[in-house]
Amino acid sequence: MGIERFFGETSIITLRAEQLFDWARRNSLWYLTYGTACCAIEMMSAGMASYDMDRFGTFHRGTPRQSDVMIVSGTVTYKMAPVLERLYSQMPEPKFVVAMGACSISGGPYFEYPHVVPGVDTLVPVDIYIPGCPPRPEALFYGWMQLQEKIKARQPERIAELKRLRMDEKAGKAAAAQAVESEVASLVSDSE
Ligand code: SF4
Repeated sequence: MGIERFFGETSIITLRAEQLFDWARRNSLWYLTYGTACCAIEMMSAGMASYDMDRFGTFHRGTPRQSDVMIVSGTVTYKMAPVLERLYSQMPEPKFVVAMGACSISGGPYFEYPHVVPGVDTLVPVDIYIPGCPPRPEALFYGWMQLQEKIKARQPERIAELKRLRMDEKAGKAAAAQAVESEVASLVSDSE
């Protein structure tokens, strides 16, 4: 791999499992295509031969159950909103949303229309906003790299969260054990 050039041939590298998972995750983000209008053409173009988005380790999926990221590209109406929310809820954790283009960010040129959602962040949490009408594939790549940076940056937070959960679990087990002990002690004293 050539990695020994940086660390030396006999070196040992240690890292947390969560760091390894996050490294793998951010370099193999599979995306659910939620393209509804002209911005979707740019998204499709990004995946084609001339732009070759697969270089990022990405792969587009037609199902939410195997997707890490939802790319919303195009106008979203209130009629579509329940479907978008359901698809988001079917994605496994951790999941991310990219709002591509003015329509998905704020309703775009149709923001005054009563049936147009004024931004998908009113429906689902959005991680990355890519402005433009439409944004070019290069803009999508830049947004993608920002998402990778975001995943990298949240590592300390996630590790702290996992530690907190583990400590809570231990504390819960200790409290449960103590409750059982005191229950047993009271039963013994009752029988005496
Ligand atoms: S932002 Fe512009 S290009 Fe994109 S879907 Fe809306 S109108 Fe079309």
